[in-house]
Order: sequence, then C-alpha cells, then structure tokens
Amino acid sequence: MEISFAGKHALVTGAGKGIGRATACALYRCGSKVTALTRTQADLDSLLLECPSIVPLCVDLADWGATAVALDNAGPFDLLVNNAACANLQPFLEVTPEKFDQSFSVNVKAVLNVSQIVARSMKARGSGGSIVNVSSQASQCTLKDHAVYCSTKAALDMLTKVMALELGPYQIRVNCVNPTVVMTEMGRIGWSDPEKASAMKSRIPLGRFAEVEDVVNSILFLLSDKSNMTSGATLPVDGGFLCC
Ligand code: NDP
Repeated sequence: MEISFAGKHALVTGAGKGIGRATACALYRCGSKVTALTRTQADLDSLLLECPSIVPLCVDLADWGATAVALDNAGPFDLLVNNAACANLQPFLEVTPEKFDQSFSVNVKAVLNVSQIVARSMKARGSGGSIVNVSSQASQCTLKDHAVYCSTKAALDMLTKVMALELGPYQIRVNCVNPTVVMTEMGRIGWSDPEKASAMKSRIPLGRFAEVEDVVNSILFLLSDKSNMTSGATLPVDGGFLCC
C-alpha cells in the first residue's frame, strides 16, 4: 500500500528519539513537510542531519505557555502525532504527587494543549485533518508499578474519543495507536530485565515485542486517507495481547 503525504504539513511531538523520531523520518520520506518537536536540542541537531528539511522545535511540553508560544507561527498543520510521553514507574503505595503531575502534564495535558492549537487552525481553515495519539496497551490492562502511566494512557484513550466526537463535524479524524512493549529508551526502563520481558512476551500471542516500524506503520495508516472513515479508534499494535 503506497502512502503519500505530499503537500501535507505534519507536527510530531517527542520526535527526538524512539517512535516519534522514526515517525517524523517516515513522514518526511513520504513527502510531508515535517515539524519535529522535542525538548533536547542535541536530538533535533542529529535528526536534521538525517532529514535535512525537517523544521525543529525545541520546547518542554510540560510548559503549557511555552508550548503555545513555540507553536504560534509553526503551522498550519494537516497532520498531528501526539507521541511524547514519560513513563514514571512507581509502586502504587509509593507514587508521589510530583511524578503524578509530571506524567499527566506531558502524557495528557500537553496533548490537549497541542491538539487545541492545531485543531482550532484546522477548523478555521476548513481543511480537515488527522490526529494520531500514541497511547499504549497499558491504557486497557493492568501492569505492576504502572498505576500512573496506565491512568494517563486510559485518559488519553478517552480524550481521543471525545476529540473524535467534537472534531468530526470539521472533518478532523482523531485516533490512537496502542502498542505493546517497544524496546526504545522508554521500553528499556520497564522491560530490560530478561525475566520480566519473557513473562510479558509469553502473554503476547505473536510471541514478540513490537518493533518501532510496526508502530510507525499503524500511525501512517491512521494519518492517511486510507483510513478515511476511521475516527475515535484505539488500534492495538500488540501482537494480540489485549484480546487475551
Ligand atoms: P522515548 O523515551 O524513546 O522517546 C520519547 C520522546 O519524547 C523523546 O524524544 C523525549 O525527549 C520526548 N519527550 C518526553 N517528554 C517530553 C516533554 N516534556 N517535552 C517534549 N518532548 C518530550 O519513548 P518511545 O518512543 O518509546 O515512546 C513514544 C510513545 O509511545 C509514548 O507516548 C509512549 O508512552 C508510547 N509507548 C511506548 C511503548 C514502549 O514500550 N516504548 C509501549 C507503548 C506505548 P527527551 O528524551 O529529551 O526527554
């Protein structure tokens, strides 16, 4: 299936590493203009060496006002991937208010902020658009030490559905991808221990973790007009984990 994003402008958050970086590069290769947002300048510098005409935006999404300023003249966008997140793993009885606030501020509140800015402009232009939020299998299953992370991703699934409901009349589609473990920097935080990893893999019918490319392909599908009638969906990229 050939997908072209020629003539489109995409914004990808958390584009410095992992899934976000690979998504930004894939969109670039499919002909889209790409704005890559992250908070570490060195990652943007190396991304530009890989994909020279990507537009870099360095801002901490936890800062609502700074994000709005950074995005002020960056658009308009046709496509948005809300990918940035943090994974603060703590046993439930040890969860701190600081980690709770940081997690919700990046994983949920920043998605609201960025999506409002992008969708308001899509609405004003009457252009329509497609938004993909990167959620997780953790939104729909329990994982030890993941009380806060699971909660943020469950909130993100529901935010996605309400956005789909309210933005649909403006031809803006909003969907989620819900990956299983991917061995990025974040994946390694939770799943480097071989015993934990193999216990998790044994619960995945396909018997393996997802590759970054598996997630990117699903994101591209949901961004593209190949999924024109799909909105409000939470698409598992989990080798069947959630159906067990
Ligand atoms: P990585 O940690 O590899 O990359 C995350 C990127 O987001 C980094 O570039 C990071 O920048 C950036 N980022 C984080 N916080 C902020 C912030 N406050 N402001 C701006 N940028 C920020 O993560 P993954 O690629 O693994 O994860 C991408 C998405 O996929 C996340 O939403 C995650 O929850 C989801 N996911 C991941 C899974 C996994 O196993 N890896 C499984 C299921 C879902 P910096 O490094 O500078 O902090």
